[in-house]
Amino acid sequence: MILLVQSNELYNNDLRAMLMAFYPGEKLTVMKPVDVANVGKELHNEFTLCFTALYDEKRTLLKIEEKAEVKFYAYVSGPYEDRKVFRNRLKLAAYQMLSEFTGRTLPWGSLTGVRPTKIAIHGIKEGESDEDIITEYERRYAATTEKAELALKVAKRETAIFEEEDIDVNRDYALYIHIPFCPSRCLYCSFASFPIQQYKYKVPEYLAALTKELQFISYVNRDRRLVSIYVGGGTPTALGELSFDNFLTEAVRYFDTSHLKEYTVEAGRPDSITERKLEIMKAHGVTRISINPQTMNDSTLKVIGRAHTADDFERAFRLAKEYKFDNINTDIIAGLPMEKLKDMENTLDVLRRMRPESLTVHSLAIKRAAHLSEELTTYQEYINHDAKEMQALAAKYATYMGMKPYYMYRQKNIAGNLENVGYSKPGRECLYNMLIMEEKTDIFGAGAGASTKLVNPGKGNVERIANSKSVDDYIVRIEDMLDKKRDVIGNTRINK
Ligand code: SF4
Repeated sequence: MILLVQSNELYNNDLRAMLMAFYPGEKLTVMKPVDVANVGKELHNEFTLCFTALYDEKRTLLKIEEKAEVKFYAYVSGPYEDRKVFRNRLKLAAYQMLSEFTGRTLPWGSLTGVRPTKIAIHGIKEGESDEDIITEYERRYAATTEKAELALKVAKRETAIFEEEDIDVNRDYALYIHIPFCPSRCLYCSFASFPIQQYKYKVPEYLAALTKELQFISYVNRDRRLVSIYVGGGTPTALGELSFDNFLTEAVRYFDTSHLKEYTVEAGRPDSITERKLEIMKAHGVTRISINPQTMNDSTLKVIGRAHTADDFERAFRLAKEYKFDNINTDIIAGLPMEKLKDMENTLDVLRRMRPESLTVHSLAIKRAAHLSEELTTYQEYINHDAKEMQALAAKYATYMGMKPYYMYRQKNIAGNLENVGYSKPGRECLYNMLIMEEKTDIFGAGAGASTKLVNPGKGNVERIANSKSVDDYIVRIEDMLDKKRDVIGNTRINK
């Protein structure tokens, strides 16, 4: 257990993220100095580590204590007026202290945000040289050169694709549709997802509510161009064949699809794919699908609660190729419980043989909503620490497969403090994946747990509207949710 003592709540989240990057899965308690003083020194016995940040007018004292004994301390000078600048300095100092204390470095250094490419994209826009951009990652955030180069590579590719695709923030928008059902729940899942067996009687009502939301989205964007549809989940193909067909009919019924550049459906779980569903997707104009093995190791698949085998993946993948899908993505995870580097190598060998058009490599993230978080005590010893080598190996295989990295993001509590990287063959990138990361245009989310992101380039901010994650709530409250959305969209457009 870790204790974070802070006299300025403004930076709670920054220091919390820094501590969690070094101590993933540890419980963290935050207290004010006055409360710590009231309890006295014996409080330290309850914690393995105490990290303190005491702010005064001119500077901030940071210290690390173990059983009330000060191990490291440092001062971070103000001024505090430019919060962003101070935040970066504070995080860097905290990172350096924790790094010395633990004897470990982190690949992204003090960079804890979701979008590591942001700095490189800004640098490219400002006309900075590659060297200057890489130096900024290294000096200001203590990131490794390897990660700085990866961020720069991705940022360059994204910038080029946005230019090629001619995406216009005011004219274009993307649509995300969430189908919150899965054949079973994966151990690490933190998405809005419910077992289809248990929820199958609710599917018609769910799809009816979803249709109302799609009609609404189509209406509020009647003067704009829909450029991308992404159907995710959950597992959209967990729906029965008839429901799936009806759903895909409704998904585009109300939209002008003449400007559509891509149409993705996550067919994630191989055990949910049938010939008929592939036929249905083809008939409805789906251009890209995802079939996700996560690993080609059957025993790991069992541990993580996926009700399919490696053979099921190969069968589904071949079937999709027979149905002439020429843009198939495959997701895998680095750092799965009990997996070693050789398991990752085996997974990558199979994929190299199967030749997908894109490969997304996730690093295992233990989010609070996941079963894995609850069962962390049980699985702690199985959480492997080879994630870094696994990511590096996946990068090599992606190159062998003729792919390049094109989008990237990070999550909290991610294995090895790493990142998730999407690789693809040239021309097979998923535009939606880049749009959601770089906030290039509005993304309208439909369905339980879906979020709408309204980009306001003038103000440089993004307005978010989240739908209820509960299927029942979504069905019952659909009209209220649409009213709320109508108000926020109206205000955002007026203020643009
Ligand atoms: S397939 Fe995806 S959404 Fe479904 S349970 Fe597994 S991780 Fe969650």
